[in-house]
This record gives sequence, C-alpha cells and structure tokens, in this order.
Amino acid sequence: MALLITDECINCDVCEPECPNGAISQGEEIYEINPDKCTECVGHYDTAQCVEVCPIDCIIPHPGIRESRDELMRKYERLAAQS
Ligand code: SF4
Ligand code: SF4
Repeated sequence: MALLITDECINCDVCEPECPNGAISQGEEIYEINPDKCTECVGHYDTAQCVEVCPIDCIIPHPGIRESRDELMRKYERLAAQS
C-alpha cells in the first residue's frame, strides 16, 4: 500500500527530501504523498524513510490503497524506467 500523511502533520519538511521517489510534496495545508509514486521505499530501502524521520509519527498505511510487495516492486520498476 502507499502511505498517507494525516492532518496531524506539522509541516516540518523533514520527510520530503528523504523520499527516494519524489512522492512527497507540500499540499495546500499539509504535506502529501502521491500514491502513484510511493513504493513504501521498496526497491530503495528496507524501511519507509519518511516514517523513520517523521517526528510525530503521522504517516500511516493508506487505508484505501493496498498493494503487495510484488506490486510495490513493479511500481518501483515502472518509476525507475521513467527516470
Ligand atoms: Fe517516499 Fe518511501 Fe515515504 Fe513512500 S514510504 S512516501 S516512497 S519515503
Ligand atoms: Fe509532516 Fe511528518 Fe513530513 Fe514533518 S515529517 S512534514 S510532520 S509528515
């Protein structure tokens, strides 16, 4: 699944530069994750880098987007082919 930033986000900007897929950006009120680009860091790291650095733990599994590790790996490969 992709990850989701909840409205508890304090806009600290720590997560955005850590994302290897450029999936995080500042939205109108809080930071947002583009689910088309979030691979849960599969293909790059063993753990979700944004979750590691968020000081208030407001990044959670997206409740509406469930993907297997294989699907996340295929998304990583698609993104890598585009870059
Ligand atoms: Fe980016 Fe990884 Fe966080 Fe997804 S889990 S938004 S790919 S840092
Ligand atoms: Fe928001 Fe957490 Fe990212 Fe900071 S690290 S901008 S609090 S989601």
